[in-house]
Amino acid sequence: CGIVGYIGKSDGTNVIVEGLKRLEYRGYDSAGVAMIGRDGRISVVRCEGKIKELEARLAASPLAGTIGIGHTRWATHGAPSDHNAHPHRSGPFAVVHNGIIENYADLKEELLGKGYEFTSETDTEVIVRLLEDEWKQCGSYEESVRRTLRRLRGSYALVFLNEESPDLLVGARQESPLILGVGKDAFYFASDIPAILHHTRDVVLLDDGDVVFVNRTGYRVESLDGTERQPDVTVIDWNP
Ligand code: GLU
Repeated sequence: CGIVGYIGKSDGTNVIVEGLKRLEYRGYDSAGVAMIGRDGRISVVRCEGKIKELEARLAASPLAGTIGIGHTRWATHGAPSDHNAHPHRSGPFAVVHNGIIENYADLKEELLGKGYEFTSETDTEVIVRLLEDEWKQCGSYEESVRRTLRRLRGSYALVFLNEESPDLLVGARQESPLILGVGKDAFYFASDIPAILHHTRDVVLLDDGDVVFVNRTGYRVESLDGTERQPDVTVIDWNP
Protein backbone atom coordinates (compact mmCIF):
# COMPACT_ATOMS: atom_id res chain seq x y z
CA CYS A 1 0.00 0.00 0.00
CA GLY A 2 1.21 3.54 -0.60
CA ILE A 3 0.55 7.25 -0.75
CA VAL A 4 1.83 10.04 -2.98
CA GLY A 5 0.84 13.71 -2.74
CA TYR A 6 1.87 16.64 -4.93
CA ILE A 7 1.61 20.43 -4.78
CA GLY A 8 3.58 22.51 -7.25
CA LYS A 9 3.60 24.51 -10.45
CA SER A 10 3.13 21.81 -13.09
CA ASP A 11 0.59 19.06 -13.59
CA GLY A 12 0.99 16.53 -10.81
CA THR A 13 -1.02 13.61 -12.19
CA ASN A 14 1.94 11.81 -13.75
CA VAL A 15 4.19 12.50 -10.77
CA ILE A 16 1.58 10.81 -8.58
CA VAL A 17 0.95 7.80 -10.83
CA GLU A 18 4.69 7.24 -11.41
CA GLY A 19 5.27 7.57 -7.67
CA LEU A 20 2.58 4.96 -6.96
CA LYS A 21 4.35 2.60 -9.39
CA ARG A 22 7.54 2.97 -7.36
CA LEU A 23 5.56 1.87 -4.29
CA GLU A 24 4.05 -1.20 -5.98
CA TYR A 25 6.55 -3.46 -4.19
CA ARG A 26 4.60 -2.74 -0.96
CA GLY A 27 1.60 -4.69 -2.30
CA TYR A 28 -1.96 -3.44 -3.03
CA ASP A 29 -5.36 -4.43 -4.42
CA SER A 30 -6.75 -1.06 -5.64
CA ALA A 31 -5.49 2.35 -6.72
CA GLY A 32 -6.79 5.88 -7.13
CA VAL A 33 -5.97 9.54 -7.75
CA ALA A 34 -7.71 12.84 -6.96
CA MET A 35 -6.73 16.22 -8.39
CA ILE A 36 -8.12 19.72 -7.94
CA GLY A 37 -8.68 20.77 -11.55
CA ARG A 38 -8.87 24.16 -13.28
CA ASP A 39 -12.55 24.35 -12.35
CA GLY A 40 -11.50 24.36 -8.68
CA ARG A 41 -13.24 21.03 -8.06
CA ILE A 42 -11.84 17.70 -6.91
CA SER A 43 -12.09 14.91 -9.46
CA VAL A 44 -11.41 11.29 -8.52
CA VAL A 45 -10.45 8.28 -10.64
CA ARG A 46 -10.06 4.99 -8.73
CA CYS A 47 -10.51 1.28 -9.24
CA GLU A 48 -9.89 -2.19 -7.94
CA GLY A 49 -6.86 -3.80 -9.56
CA LYS A 50 -3.45 -2.76 -10.77
CA ILE A 51 -2.05 0.67 -11.60
CA LYS A 52 -2.28 -0.38 -15.27
CA GLU A 53 -6.06 -0.48 -14.80
CA LEU A 54 -5.95 2.95 -13.15
CA GLU A 55 -3.96 4.27 -16.12
CA ALA A 56 -6.57 2.87 -18.52
CA ARG A 57 -9.30 4.67 -16.58
CA LEU A 58 -7.23 7.87 -16.57
CA ALA A 59 -6.79 7.61 -20.33
CA ALA A 60 -10.60 7.47 -20.66
CA SER A 61 -11.22 10.27 -18.08
CA PRO A 62 -8.02 12.34 -17.80
CA LEU A 63 -7.24 14.33 -14.67
CA ALA A 64 -5.03 17.40 -14.43
CA GLY A 65 -4.06 19.80 -11.68
CA THR A 66 -1.19 21.26 -9.70
CA ILE A 67 -2.36 19.73 -6.40
CA GLY A 68 -3.40 16.13 -5.89
CA ILE A 69 -3.20 12.84 -4.02
CA GLY A 70 -2.79 9.18 -5.00
CA HIS A 71 -3.16 5.86 -3.21
CA THR A 72 -2.60 2.16 -3.46
CA ARG A 73 -4.83 0.22 -1.07
CA TRP A 74 -4.26 -2.96 0.85
CA ALA A 75 -7.80 -3.57 2.08
CA THR A 76 -8.27 -4.04 5.83
CA HIS A 77 -11.91 -2.87 6.27
CA GLY A 78 -14.20 -3.51 3.30
CA ALA A 79 -13.47 -5.83 0.38
CA PRO A 80 -11.26 -4.73 -2.53
CA SER A 81 -13.71 -2.95 -4.88
CA ASP A 82 -14.06 0.26 -6.90
CA HIS A 83 -16.21 1.94 -4.26
CA ASN A 84 -13.87 1.05 -1.39
CA ALA A 85 -10.81 2.31 -3.32
CA HIS A 86 -9.34 5.60 -2.10
CA PRO A 87 -9.49 8.64 -2.35
CA HIS A 88 -12.65 8.97 -0.24
CA ARG A 89 -14.70 12.15 -0.23
CA SER A 90 -16.99 14.19 2.01
CA GLY A 91 -18.15 17.75 1.25
CA PRO A 92 -15.18 19.72 -0.13
CA PHE A 93 -12.62 17.18 1.14
CA ALA A 94 -10.83 14.10 -0.19
CA VAL A 95 -8.43 11.81 1.68
CA VAL A 96 -6.03 8.94 1.13
CA HIS A 97 -5.13 6.71 4.07
CA ASN A 98 -2.79 3.88 4.86
CA GLY A 99 -3.33 2.16 8.21
CA ILE A 100 -6.23 1.13 10.43
CA ILE A 101 -8.64 3.31 12.46
CA GLU A 102 -9.43 1.17 15.49
CA ASN A 103 -12.37 3.26 16.76
CA TYR A 104 -13.99 3.66 13.34
CA ALA A 105 -17.18 1.78 14.33
CA ASP A 106 -17.95 4.18 17.22
CA LEU A 107 -17.19 7.22 15.07
CA LYS A 108 -19.32 5.87 12.23
CA GLU A 109 -22.27 5.31 14.53
CA GLU A 110 -21.97 8.88 15.81
CA LEU A 111 -21.81 10.29 12.27
CA LEU A 112 -24.72 8.13 11.05
CA GLY A 113 -26.68 9.55 13.99
CA LYS A 114 -25.92 13.05 12.68
CA GLY A 115 -27.27 12.13 9.26
CA TYR A 116 -24.03 11.44 7.36
CA GLU A 117 -24.33 8.81 4.65
CA PHE A 118 -21.53 6.39 3.81
CA THR A 119 -20.67 5.10 0.37
CA SER A 120 -17.98 2.55 1.32
CA GLU A 121 -17.28 -0.08 3.97
CA THR A 122 -13.85 1.38 4.82
CA ASP A 123 -12.60 2.72 8.14
CA THR A 124 -11.07 5.54 6.07
CA GLU A 125 -14.38 7.10 5.03
CA VAL A 126 -15.05 7.85 8.71
CA ILE A 127 -12.00 10.17 8.75
CA VAL A 128 -13.19 12.36 5.92
CA ARG A 129 -16.83 12.46 7.12
CA LEU A 130 -15.57 13.45 10.58
CA LEU A 131 -13.41 16.16 9.02
CA GLU A 132 -16.45 17.61 7.26
CA ASP A 133 -18.40 17.53 10.50
CA GLU A 134 -15.62 19.25 12.50
CA TRP A 135 -15.21 21.83 9.72
CA LYS A 136 -18.93 22.63 9.77
CA GLN A 137 -18.61 23.26 13.51
CA CYS A 138 -15.39 25.31 13.66
CA GLY A 139 -15.08 26.79 10.17
CA SER A 140 -11.28 26.54 10.06
CA TYR A 141 -9.69 23.88 7.86
CA GLU A 142 -6.48 23.66 9.90
CA GLU A 143 -8.33 23.42 13.21
CA SER A 144 -10.81 20.84 11.91
CA VAL A 145 -7.88 18.66 10.77
CA ARG A 146 -6.33 18.86 14.27
CA ARG A 147 -9.68 18.06 15.92
CA THR A 148 -10.28 15.12 13.58
CA LEU A 149 -6.83 13.62 14.15
CA ARG A 150 -7.15 13.91 17.93
CA ARG A 151 -10.26 11.71 17.77
CA LEU A 152 -8.63 8.89 15.78
CA ARG A 153 -7.23 5.77 17.46
CA GLY A 154 -4.98 3.46 15.49
CA SER A 155 -2.49 3.97 12.69
CA TYR A 156 -2.49 6.35 9.78
CA ALA A 157 -0.58 8.06 7.06
CA LEU A 158 -3.01 10.60 5.61
CA VAL A 159 -3.03 13.27 2.93
CA PHE A 160 -6.02 15.60 2.54
CA LEU A 161 -7.30 17.80 -0.29
CA ASN A 162 -9.84 20.57 0.25
CA GLU A 163 -11.35 22.30 -2.77
CA GLU A 164 -12.09 25.34 -0.58
CA SER A 165 -8.30 25.63 0.04
CA PRO A 166 -6.79 24.70 -3.34
CA ASP A 167 -3.32 25.93 -2.31
CA LEU A 168 -2.98 23.76 0.79
CA LEU A 169 -2.01 20.10 0.98
CA VAL A 170 -2.22 18.54 4.46
CA GLY A 171 -0.48 15.37 5.64
CA ALA A 172 -0.30 13.52 8.95
CA ARG A 173 1.27 10.36 10.30
CA GLN A 174 0.82 8.03 13.24
CA GLU A 175 2.51 4.61 13.12
CA SER A 176 2.39 4.46 9.31
CA PRO A 177 5.22 5.77 7.13
CA LEU A 178 5.05 9.22 5.48
CA ILE A 179 7.79 11.58 4.31
CA LEU A 180 7.78 15.10 2.88
CA GLY A 181 9.91 15.83 -0.18
CA VAL A 182 11.08 19.44 -0.56
CA GLY A 183 11.65 20.40 -4.20
CA LYS A 184 12.54 23.69 -5.88
CA ASP A 185 9.05 24.43 -7.13
CA ALA A 186 7.08 21.61 -5.57
CA PHE A 187 6.45 19.56 -2.44
CA TYR A 188 5.70 15.86 -2.27
CA PHE A 189 4.28 13.43 0.26
CA ALA A 190 5.17 9.75 -0.07
CA SER A 191 5.17 6.53 1.92
CA ASP A 192 8.78 5.93 1.00
CA ILE A 193 11.76 7.85 -0.39
CA PRO A 194 12.16 6.03 -3.77
CA ALA A 195 8.70 7.25 -4.83
CA ILE A 196 9.98 10.84 -5.17
CA LEU A 197 13.78 10.54 -5.35
CA HIS A 198 13.96 11.49 -9.04
CA HIS A 199 12.22 14.79 -8.17
CA THR A 200 14.13 15.81 -5.05
CA ARG A 201 16.79 14.54 -2.65
CA ASP A 202 15.73 16.88 0.18
CA VAL A 203 13.43 14.99 2.49
CA VAL A 204 11.79 15.59 5.89
CA LEU A 205 11.43 12.28 7.72
CA LEU A 206 8.19 12.82 9.62
CA ASP A 207 7.59 11.56 13.17
CA ASP A 208 4.53 9.99 14.73
CA GLY A 209 2.08 12.73 15.65
CA ASP A 210 3.30 15.16 12.97
CA VAL A 211 0.76 17.22 11.03
CA VAL A 212 2.10 19.05 7.96
CA PHE A 213 0.50 22.02 6.21
CA VAL A 214 2.06 22.61 2.80
CA ASN A 215 1.25 25.57 0.58
CA ARG A 216 2.88 26.56 -2.72
CA THR A 217 5.85 28.31 -1.11
CA GLY A 218 6.57 26.48 2.14
CA TYR A 219 5.48 24.09 4.84
CA ARG A 220 4.81 24.00 8.57
CA VAL A 221 5.20 20.88 10.70
CA GLU A 222 3.34 20.72 13.99
CA SER A 223 2.35 18.18 16.59
CA LEU A 224 -1.26 17.33 17.37
CA ASP A 225 -1.53 20.09 20.01
CA GLY A 226 -0.63 22.69 17.38
CA THR A 227 2.97 23.39 18.53
CA GLU A 228 5.28 24.00 15.60
CA ARG A 229 8.48 21.95 15.27
CA GLN A 230 11.42 22.58 12.94
CA PRO A 231 12.50 19.21 11.63
CA ASP A 232 15.81 18.66 9.83
CA VAL A 233 15.88 18.28 6.07
CA THR A 234 17.82 15.11 5.22
CA VAL A 235 19.73 15.03 1.94
CA ILE A 236 19.41 11.54 0.45
CA ASP A 237 22.73 10.48 -1.08
CA TRP A 238 21.81 6.96 -2.21
CA ASN A 239 20.02 5.66 -5.27
CA PRO A 240 17.15 3.19 -5.25
N1 GLU B 1 -7.81 0.63 6.31
C1 GLU B 1 -7.92 1.28 5.04
C2 GLU B 1 -8.80 0.50 4.09
O1 GLU B 1 -9.07 -0.65 4.30
C3 GLU B 1 -6.55 1.56 4.41
C4 GLU B 1 -5.82 0.30 4.00
C5 GLU B 1 -4.40 0.61 3.48
O2 GLU B 1 -3.50 0.82 4.33
O3 GLU B 1 -4.20 0.64 2.27
O4 GLU B 1 -9.26 1.02 3.13
